[in-house]
Parts: sequence; C-alpha cells; structure tokens
Amino acid sequence: PVVARAVDLFKQYGTDDNAVIALNHINVEFKRGELTAIMGPSGSGKSTLMHCMAGLDTPTSGDVFVEGLEVSSMNQRQLTKLRRKEIGFIFQSFNLVPTLTAKENILLPLQIAKRPIDMDWFNKVVDVVGLANRLDHRPSQLSGGQQQRVACARAMMEQPSVIFADEPTGNLDSRSSREVLSFLQQSVREYGQSIVMVTHDPRAASFADRVLVLADGSITNDMQHPTYAEIL
Ligand code: ADP
Ligand code: ADP
Repeated sequence: PVVARAVDLFKQYGTDDNAVIALNHINVEFKRGELTAIMGPSGSGKSTLMHCMAGLDTPTSGDVFVEGLEVSSMNQRQLTKLRRKEIGFIFQSFNLVPTLTAKENILLPLQIAKRPIDMDWFNKVVDVVGLANRLDHRPSQLSGGQQQRVACARAMMEQPSVIFADEPTGNLDSRSSREVLSFLQQSVREYGQSIVMVTHDPRAASFADRVLVLADGSITNDMQHPTYAEIL
C-alpha cells in the first residue's frame, strides 16, 4: 500500500528572471515496508522534495498525499496534527535536547502533544535500537551513533506511517552509520513503516530497498534493490 504520494509536484522559487525550478513535475509513490534513498547532486531538489512531502514547504502546484490525505490543502492546525501522528523526522544533527536524558528525549514529543505513552512500545523500540542501558545518559555522554539512535527511537514512538530522514548518517563514522542504517532497515521490515532518506553516501544508499536519483528537479533514475555498482 502507498503511504505517501506526490502528483505532478512543481516547485519554483522566485519569479520571472531569477526563477529557480526546484521540482519539475515530479510523480512518485512511497510504499509501506520500503526504505527509499534519495540521491542526486547538491541543488537537485532533494530537500525541497522531502520538505514538500512532509508538509514543511508548500509546492507551487501539484499535490502531496500522506495516508490518502491531501497535504497541500491543509491548514496549519491540520498540518501540525499530521506531522505529529503520521510523520517522523530524523535530522543530520540529531536535534536532541542536551539537558534531557535519552529516555526524556525519546518521550518528549508525546509529552508535548499530551499523548499517552505506550510503555510496551517504548521498551520494544529502545530494545531494537540497542539503547536499553543508555536511557539515563544525556546526549553529551553518548557517541554520535547512539545519539542518532535516540533520535530514531524518538521518531518511532508515535508509530508514524512515514519517516523522513535528512542525511541521517551525515555526521557519523562508518561503523555508527551501519548501526543506524541497519536499524532503519530492520524497523521497515518489522514494523512496515515507509522510510525516505536523503543521502550523499552510496554506502548508505546501498541499505535501501529503492534508490531514487534526482537531477535538476526531475527523477532521472528509480532503482529497486540496486547493487553498489549501480548506485555509483
Ligand atoms: P542541502 O543540499 O544539504 O540540503 P542546501 O544548502 O541546499 O542544503 O539548503 C539548505 C537550506 O537553505 C534549505 O532549507 C533551503 O531551503 C535553503 N536554500 C537553499 N538554496 C537557497 C537559495 N538559493 N536561496 C535561499 N535559500 C536557499
Ligand atoms: P538539494 O537538497 O538536492 O541540495 P534543494 O532542494 O535544497 O536541493 O534545492 C533545489 C534548488 O532550489 C536549488 O537550485 C536551490 O538553490 C533552490 N532553492 C532551495 N531553497 C530555496 C529557497 N528558499 N529560495 C530560493 N531558492 C531555493
């Protein structure tokens, strides 16, 4: 089943002489149980595509649907609700609160939204990301890979249907990258989420089920289970 869909997505920055076309009529579907990597040179539209899909940016024309709901026509209140419930985010820079412990960071979005905490699910997620004995540590007491796994657990807590990850391994060494990527791979297999990650790293992309390549705002390649050589 399709979790998120872009239909004829067009995004232009500026007008007339200094107009930049960031997305040039993109059509794409993201399915449940699929880890997708979006690659392409700097300025090819990767961030814009992800931001439009997540309702963080408004397309000039075209539509975005998440779980069948039309994101482009939502008001701020509806967008906030959608982002809290259906969409998870993972950032390159982890975005953890330095004064809170790992556990507090993972539970923070639920507390802000005043939503009930399912401790069984919390324990399961923490177990899968391998943080069970790091829960009382603050971010400064954790390695980069551990911090990113805290961020992954935080993104998982609401059981969103789609998680968008912006260069999730951009600040990690290769061992920590592999840990985070194999967690993302495992959570897609086990919990059937859809994960869409932007990455420059072909090794990171080789963990994906699908690799999309953007160039000048268009999708120029869409590969299922490509080999490492095909990604390069
Ligand atoms: P990345 O390639 O790592 O995604 P960018 O440098 O392309 O980073 O963009 C970082 C941020 O700056 C984006 O959120 C984007 O909206 C903004 N941005 C990128 N290019 C421009 C530009 N030409 N003018 C204004 N803002 C820009
Ligand atoms: P990528 O993530 O692949 O680096 P972006 O989506 O950030 O690409 O940018 C796509 C194009 O849109 C680039 O030419 C960039 O300069 C331009 N762009 C992005 N954000 C802005 C912005 N806020 N204002 C003007 N131009 C922008």
